[in-house]
Amino acid sequence: MIAVKGYAAKTAKSPLEPFSFERREPKDNDILIDIAFCGVCHSDVHQVRDEWGGSTFPMVPGHEIVGHVAKVGKNVTKYKVGDLVGVGCLVDSCRTCHPCKDSEEQYCDTVPSWTYNGVEQDKKTPTFGGYSDKIVVHQDFVLKIPTNLELSAVAPLLCAGITTYSPLRNWHVKPGQKVGIVGLGGLGHMGVKFAHAMGAHTVVLTHSPQKQADALRLGANEILISKNADDMQKHAGTFDFLLSTISAPYDINAYLNLLKLDGTMVIVGVPEKALELQAFSLIGKRRRLAGSLIGGIEQTQEMLNFCGQHNITADIEIIPIQKINEAYERMIKSDVRYRFVIDMKSLSL
Ligand code: NAP
Ligand code: ZN
Ligand code: ZN
Repeated sequence: MIAVKGYAAKTAKSPLEPFSFERREPKDNDILIDIAFCGVCHSDVHQVRDEWGGSTFPMVPGHEIVGHVAKVGKNVTKYKVGDLVGVGCLVDSCRTCHPCKDSEEQYCDTVPSWTYNGVEQDKKTPTFGGYSDKIVVHQDFVLKIPTNLELSAVAPLLCAGITTYSPLRNWHVKPGQKVGIVGLGGLGHMGVKFAHAMGAHTVVLTHSPQKQADALRLGANEILISKNADDMQKHAGTFDFLLSTISAPYDINAYLNLLKLDGTMVIVGVPEKALELQAFSLIGKRRRLAGSLIGGIEQTQEMLNFCGQHNITADIEIIPIQKINEAYERMIKSDVRYRFVIDMKSLSL
């Protein structure tokens, strides 16, 4: 077994604290990765605090992992020692069901192995995430990182990146469309960069007026302050597509009313409470409401390559792991520009 240092929450009520544990020796198809950086996703907070139910403890969060290959099993052909690699929200899946065969492993019929707060495919060994110095992952779930990008700013692409890229691609967002990104946090700011790069007329919908200048810098053509009812009314019935990344309960009808005939709103944000839907918000203009969960391994690699080509990374604030509990509090207050990334060197301080 390999000794690993990390940070864990022992219960849903306790802060994260130093935690030592073990990972398996790399098997024939496994890769041992020295973790350099790990992004801090709002899903980490939801799960550490058991806001969605079913969390298991101790929990080592973290699913925006980048680092270097330290060791490979004898059947590993895709990577060699020293390569830059990433791991997102998935570390395995059944590989035999329809979603797995279609490269949509995140929708695996028998539940994929989540990078943390999950179990391996033996259905009993708990998984521990990237707030740690090493991880061992099957080569099929390891991503190749473009070498022209700043590594620390690549980490958030592994969740925030793919979660926003995937619906924009799957709903064929293109030039000439008016696309709204709702919520300018970790996911939202990536959504803006992607929608802009895909040529859409990109609008940021935010409840934080102080983020206006940033929204424009990130690539938005317009900003809509969601608290401003007049502004919302002015844009009613004009959007082709909306992507909601809001992490807290909100009035979804206020956003649906912005869609034009046959427009689509996709939800990726997961508030801890149910959203209340007025039927007329959909019926009035034959609107559609959908959800989307991260993205499969193939599309994650496509997204990373797209970022390499278009020079896209996240806007980040690097923190030592000792500041993680403070970072959670700031993220909950929408006080993050726009993703915290843990420098794993701090684990040995
Ligand atoms: P984040 O950085 O905290 O961003 C969330 C944003 O939502 C905030 O920056 C804020 O944007 C907006 N917001 C927060 N509270 C609000 C409120 N009360 N009313 C209106 N807007 C509010 O979080 P994140 O990491 O981007 O994650 C966002 C959500 O997506 C979380 O629920 C997370 O669990 C979920 N998620 C889902 C997937 C998936 O596969 N579906 C993957 C990753 C994360 P403004 O300040 O601009 O208004
Ligand atoms: Zn995430
Ligand atoms: Zn499957």
